[in-house]
Amino acid sequence: MESLRELFRIGMGPSSSHTMGPRRAAEIFRTRHPQAACVHVTLHGSLAATGKGHLTDQAIQSGLAPLPVTLHWDPTPLPQHPNGMTFVALDAQDSPLATWTVFSIGGGALREAHGALSQPDLVYPKRSLGEILTWTQETGRPMWALVDDMEPEVWSYLRQVWQTMRAALTEGKHAEGVLPGGLNLQRKAKAFFARARSLRGSARRTALLAAAALAVAEHNASGGVIATAPTCGSAGVVPAVLAYLEKDMGLKEPDILRALATAGLVGNVVRTNASISGAEVGCQGEIGVACAMAAAAAAQLLGGTPAQVEYAAEIGLEHHLGLTCDPILGLVQVPCIERNAFAAIRALSAAEYALLSDGRHLVSFDTVVEAMQQTGHDLPSLYRETSQGGLARVFRR
Ligand code: SF4
Repeated sequence: MESLRELFRIGMGPSSSHTMGPRRAAEIFRTRHPQAACVHVTLHGSLAATGKGHLTDQAIQSGLAPLPVTLHWDPTPLPQHPNGMTFVALDAQDSPLATWTVFSIGGGALREAHGALSQPDLVYPKRSLGEILTWTQETGRPMWALVDDMEPEVWSYLRQVWQTMRAALTEGKHAEGVLPGGLNLQRKAKAFFARARSLRGSARRTALLAAAALAVAEHNASGGVIATAPTCGSAGVVPAVLAYLEKDMGLKEPDILRALATAGLVGNVVRTNASISGAEVGCQGEIGVACAMAAAAAAQLLGGTPAQVEYAAEIGLEHHLGLTCDPILGLVQVPCIERNAFAAIRALSAAEYALLSDGRHLVSFDTVVEAMQQTGHDLPSLYRETSQGGLARVFRR
């Protein structure tokens, strides 16, 4: 597996595959072709279907600035991946200088037709959560200790990730008004935080988790800076659970960073063996994986054994299997924002459920990842970030 840096990326929302990845591709192309006078870009498949709502056009233009850009939208996907982009650099006489086809494969990562942009740096010798669990049993150490062993320098980056998550939460908590994009969706986070103050017990907990997840997800939907966990669209789940437990349990920063490391291992296993792209496997790969990451982090913070941590992650993902991606108007707003809130609530419940057991269970997390990948590939493209099916199709004002 690659570094946790490849999973937790810091950048502008609202979409890691439709905004962050395309901006990065545009920046790479501009750097490679400084002699270009202008650039034609064709967005294929899901990027064309939901790119306007996901601000893909703005991301490409800002990545190529100051070059003039002509965009073409082609909803037919290329055979290699649903999120394809073709860049053509032209000289001052409009003659083509270079062509580049690249794919935004989820979480802000890019791939060319023949493979990764550069040789992946495999920091972790392990590929599955089962192998990591075995390592914890053999060494008697917690999951996060594997991160310490394999990339000890990553802690300062994880601190930056946590600070970004907190900043997004704070900004989203205080923002008011309507989200951009045309749905006229009112922000809810601020009102939910206010409401939470008058509540007690489980109602207060639900309100605080939901409010925190909404704050980050609304910030993302407005194009704010967030940390992917594992994607932009699902970026509210992990921070909401961590922030809630930090306050509720009086946790210190090292506890949070270790929980983030364990969450990162869980997300990285999915990224390595399946996909975290809604265009490839539906929302189970985004919100489902975010829930698994947050559940694992919560189980660790609540004192769970590595087996209970693995079980919490398994519950978090298993009960999102089959979740479709059908964003209305192609915006990362409905159902995405509310989905973050419910996944945060479920993640904490999953951790508590796992802690009721001794950690033994029938279906492993790795098996659920395999099922998720298979299910995702069996889903018609209508339900994989094309805004052609489900809510996007039947919703009428
Ligand atoms: S429905 Fe899920 S996968 Fe699709 S854009 Fe929204 S958060 Fe991402």
